[in-house]
Amino acid sequence: MINRVDHIGIAVSSLEESIPLFEKLLGTRLNKREVVDSQKVEAAFFKVGGGTIELLAPTSHDSQIQKFIKKKKEGVHHIALNVSSIEQEMKRLEKNGFEFVSKTPIIGANNKKIVFLHPKSTNGVLVEICEDT
Ligand code: ZN
Repeated sequence: MINRVDHIGIAVSSLEESIPLFEKLLGTRLNKREVVDSQKVEAAFFKVGGGTIELLAPTSHDSQIQKFIKKKKEGVHHIALNVSSIEQEMKRLEKNGFEFVSKTPIIGANNKKIVFLHPKSTNGVLVEICEDT
């Protein structure tokens, strides 16, 4: 079951430049920063109401975020949906013809289990499914 929109991921080149911009935009201070080795990114989190805006900057030239910025420039990268059981949700989505970027969930930011749906099966939108652990 999908519980809520968990966060929106935004690809940025530099957290140093984008954090002050988003602090000004949202009228709030940065919640925290975290290096996520599994995705070769450093993330910065802003709490907005019940959701989160997550800035993602590459930590390596072969990071997916770096590739995204090179191809599409900075901007919205993915939306993440919080689910109660990632395995159950993957089964449901697979049954409905959706494709995944990887077959098994990995541990992402905030120690969540995450998996991405392939944008070619979701109208070009990169969708992350995440489960709190
Ligand atoms: Zn995410």
